[in-house]
Amino acid sequence: MKGKLLIFSAPSGAGKTSIVRYLLDSGLNLEFSVSATSRKKRGEEIHGHDYFFYSSDEFREKISKGEFAEWEEVYNDHYYGTLKSEILRIRKKGRHVLFDIDVEGGLKLKQLYNKEALAIFVMPPSPEVLKERLIKRATDSYDNIMMRLEKAEKELARVGEFDRLIVNENLETACKEAYKIVKDFIS
Ligand code: 5GP
Repeated sequence: MKGKLLIFSAPSGAGKTSIVRYLLDSGLNLEFSVSATSRKKRGEEIHGHDYFFYSSDEFREKISKGEFAEWEEVYNDHYYGTLKSEILRIRKKGRHVLFDIDVEGGLKLKQLYNKEALAIFVMPPSPEVLKERLIKRATDSYDNIMMRLEKAEKELARVGEFDRLIVNENLETACKEAYKIVKDFIS
């Protein structure tokens, strides 16, 4: 069996990370694709678990060597990308690959893997709720929150390019919906 790709994309603050965590614990044969980034570690984050943390120079070197399936400069000098080696590693084990990446990156992967991939957009119930969630999270500075909100607006406009849409009004309901969508796709 060749593992499939389950891509969860959303503006940050939409709650996709909680849904992805739920799915990883749900007994489906899924494994998380650890992205690479050049941004600084936050809080308790661990290299190789939350992200592969590289300097901007290291990241750019990997780009020039063609090591990424997709990559992006999401914020100024903050690179994010999916390593080809990570997708291969998980599929070799006969498992499905779960992605928690931004909208642009998610759509790039969908184009690349086509029918082998399902792209799911997680939507916040409203722009107000999104703002509230970003502020409550309090890991970001005011400027950073504003930058994320600006980015979110552009991302929301691309919802039509996704295979499926989940509106995260209530986390429990959204998780159950995600579980069903993933289960149907992989079986
Ligand atoms: P954060 O800094 O909050 O961890 O993530 C910032 C943004 O980068 C989020 O929207 C996240 O989904 C996105 N991101 C994380 N990993 C990747 C990746 O591998 N590729 C792309 N294109 N975006 C990613």
